[in-house]
Amino acid sequence: MSRTRSICPFCGCGCSFYILTEGDRVIGVEPSAGNPVNKGMLCAKGWNAFDFVNSPDRLVKPLIRKQGTLVETSWDEAITTVATRLSDIGSRSGPRSLGFLSSAKVTNEENYLFMKMARAAFKTNSVDHCARL
Ligand code: SF4
Repeated sequence: MSRTRSICPFCGCGCSFYILTEGDRVIGVEPSAGNPVNKGMLCAKGWNAFDFVNSPDRLVKPLIRKQGTLVETSWDEAITTVATRLSDIGSRSGPRSLGFLSSAKVTNEENYLFMKMARAAFKTNSVDHCARL
């Protein structure tokens, strides 16, 4: 079994834990006693932060709805489709017709870039974060 130190991905508190792995499978987490944020403790979300990793239901490829059915596609096609549709909606109905919701499960830097994309590329201030929902 291996232990790899990391940060819980579920909120912005920054609790530290060790991810326990056997081979290529994540089998658990163990709180970091030395981290001043969580001092050896985790909340229920942190203790279960690894559950989804090995789930057979986990989406590993993007899906696009075509003729009413979700079908697997490439990242290039998915990103191009989203960018084209957002641009079309913005052009047709104005920037206030668009809204962007980000996540606590990504880094501050990724949230910053997301906010910049909404404001600079799509000209909307309608950008928010799941922590406020
Ligand atoms: S363990 Fe709980 S409080 Fe700590 S970062 Fe994860 S979700 Fe947040």
